[in-house]
Amino acid sequence: MFNNSAEYLGKICDEVNHIKVHDHTCSLYETPEEQFSVITPFIRQGLLDNAKCIYVADENPVGEVIKRLSSAIPDIESYIAKGALVLLDKSKAYLEHGYFSPELMIEAIKILVSESKQQGYGNLRITGEMTWALSGEPGAERLMEYESRVNHLYESLDAMAICQYNISLFSPETIKHLLLTHPVIIYKGNFCRNFNYVTPEEYLRENDRYAEVNRTLEQILDVERREKALVEKNTELKDVNNRLNEEILMRKKTEEVLLKTLDELERSNQELQQFAYVASHDLQEPIRMISVYTRLLEKQFREKLDDRTSEFMFFIMDGAKRMHTLIQDLLAFSRVASRKDPFSPTDLNVVIADIMRDLQVTIADHNAIIEFDRLPVVIADPTQMRQLFQNLIQNAIKFRSNNAPVIRIEAEQDSGEYFFRVIDNGIGIEKDYHEKIFIIFQRLHDREEYPGTGIGLAICNKIVERHRGRIWVESEPGRGSAFCFTLKLNPED
Ligand code: ADP
Repeated sequence: MFNNSAEYLGKICDEVNHIKVHDHTCSLYETPEEQFSVITPFIRQGLLDNAKCIYVADENPVGEVIKRLSSAIPDIESYIAKGALVLLDKSKAYLEHGYFSPELMIEAIKILVSESKQQGYGNLRITGEMTWALSGEPGAERLMEYESRVNHLYESLDAMAICQYNISLFSPETIKHLLLTHPVIIYKGNFCRNFNYVTPEEYLRENDRYAEVNRTLEQILDVERREKALVEKNTELKDVNNRLNEEILMRKKTEEVLLKTLDELERSNQELQQFAYVASHDLQEPIRMISVYTRLLEKQFREKLDDRTSEFMFFIMDGAKRMHTLIQDLLAFSRVASRKDPFSPTDLNVVIADIMRDLQVTIADHNAIIEFDRLPVVIADPTQMRQLFQNLIQNAIKFRSNNAPVIRIEAEQDSGEYFFRVIDNGIGIEKDYHEKIFIIFQRLHDREEYPGTGIGLAICNKIVERHRGRIWVESEPGRGSAFCFTLKLNPED
């Protein structure tokens, strides 16, 4: 029901803004408050949109209308003064010629529209209080004929209208006709497209009972069709809803399976690490026994051994040595996860200086040059940083070309992470192997050519992953390699 709250008036305002040029609207109301809750925003919006507004007063004196409108249009007097808003009474409008004539009214509206266009207005907004028709004025009996015929007029003009009918004053019969002659109704604060509306041709076909029956039947059909369409839409919506619910359920299940798999993966990963550690740790002793006793055998029977047996003894010793190295590397690999130190500020300049001191013999032997500008202090595991850079530098020397190794270490700070490159001028790597080399035991050369177990880069990968970074290589055979990796500025965030 009508109330005076700002929220309700705001809602009506929105509804009234649905009225557009060409609309012939009927506003039905009972009280002046209800009446002006519709008309005030209609006029106000018109004035703001550069429309010419005409108000025909009758139920309220002109002064009262101005007072009511001015509550939302404080500068109303200036609009009246410049002619943007014109207030008239019935004698200057519907009864200008002393009697009411639909033909004369239609002509008058046409002239008004063209005059307002000439005056520079965008369109015309007309509204009239229709109580004048209740006092038996000559020609008033043709009002409904006019209300119907005027529809074609508004279709063809840049104009719109609201006819104001106080429903407590007009007879139900008249209101029934209003509903047949106005395509748009404003009722109880709602803008409604009126499905009772009939075209002027149909409306004006006098005494045509068949036409009325047809109309009623069409309306029954129309309502039925709308209801069916609504039911269909509703069913469709229910279907969509059901499908969505199923989808949500499926996703939830997938998520549960995923979480379980992740859990199992985590556990099996831990078990594997434990296994690698225990296996490599416990294998050290038997290998040591093989080496020690083979050496003892060799010492004791040196004179008695023929060449062939000596060769076999050498193979046993060599095998044991290789197995020892392999076990050491495997242990180092499993320790990335099992023997980790907490992250702390780690000065990489110190780390590289330490590595260079440890590798000074190798560096000197191969005339290697290691270049770097000032490197950052990173939040990381210091031991693992040392292992990471040492593996990369050692590889750069090991996989050198015919030129003396030149190794350049570069660092950049990006948003949220550091970006490092360890660049060498070595033999380079074919594209097909760029990813494989980071997998444990993957090597591209045989042992005789380049010694190694194929674990170094797998360790690097694990260390970088633990610091929530990525590692990759950019390289071409014969053109050196750049091992690139990122480290989070704060890996514990
Ligand atoms: P390893 O050095 O014990 O073979 P890595 O895991 O350190 O094991 O390296 C794997 C393989 O990647 C190496 O065998 C080599 O073929 C290739 N590789 C690593 N670093 C370089 C490099 N700087 N230049 C060319 N090839 C490299």
